[in-house]
Amino acid sequence: MLLFVLSGIFLAEYTDVLPTTLQAQIVTNLSKSKNYLESAFDEYVPKIKSLTNSTNTATEDTTKQETATSQDKQTGSANGTPAFSMVNKFVLGNVYYYHFTKKTPKAARQAFNDAIYAYNQTGVVKLIAGKGNSSVNTVAFSVYYKDEGQRAQTLELGTGGPELTYKTNDPSKAAINHASAKINMTYPESVSDSVTMHELGHALGLNHSTETSSIMYPTNQGVKSLSEDDVAGLKNIYNK
Ligand SMILES: [Zn+2]
Repeated sequence: MLLFVLSGIFLAEYTDVLPTTLQAQIVTNLSKSKNYLESAFDEYVPKIKSLTNSTNTATEDTTKQETATSQDKQTGSANGTPAFSMVNKFVLGNVYYYHFTKKTPKAARQAFNDAIYAYNQTGVVKLIAGKGNSSVNTVAFSVYYKDEGQRAQTLELGTGGPELTYKTNDPSKAAINHASAKINMTYPESVSDSVTMHELGHALGLNHSTETSSIMYPTNQGVKSLSEDDVAGLKNIYNK
């Protein structure tokens, strides 16, 4: 049995544009949105996480890493917030087990919990506290520290993405998602529902949207709720 691992730790950049007042952000973002989206897309370099599979059987396992995001287009939302193209290839169950890594501070956990609540409220996915195992969908929440430096024009507030594992001989196209969502604690604005909801959206398979009302807009708009398009995008992934 061949076991292919489709890796998608995308480290999708979620950046904030200075100055920091929301109004100034919006004005700045609107004026720069076209250029920014183009540059953000170029920087959207998938990071391939190596995975190894061990087996106790006599069959040969093959491990393969594949990412598709660099070819993904950021599209409008006529059919809902887009999903990562690799997520579209597979059928995912809608139940996830989640946990926080030990060093996740209380404030970050609260912001992640708000995001978990928001996604559970949709009824499309169901996130349950617990570590899960290799055969169920999981999300690991954590924090990291990355200083972009004084001269940075954009600040990375978080990363997130799915990591899909599937069996090549399964005609049902079923895959298991071992996802991650992280926020960059170097910047206080990362500890925000708008950021945790964005990164959890990536973990669940959502890609960036060009709609400023979407939680998946690439720069932080201070949006703290899922748009109708975001919910529609989730349904596209989980109600196939
Ligand atoms: Zn993003």
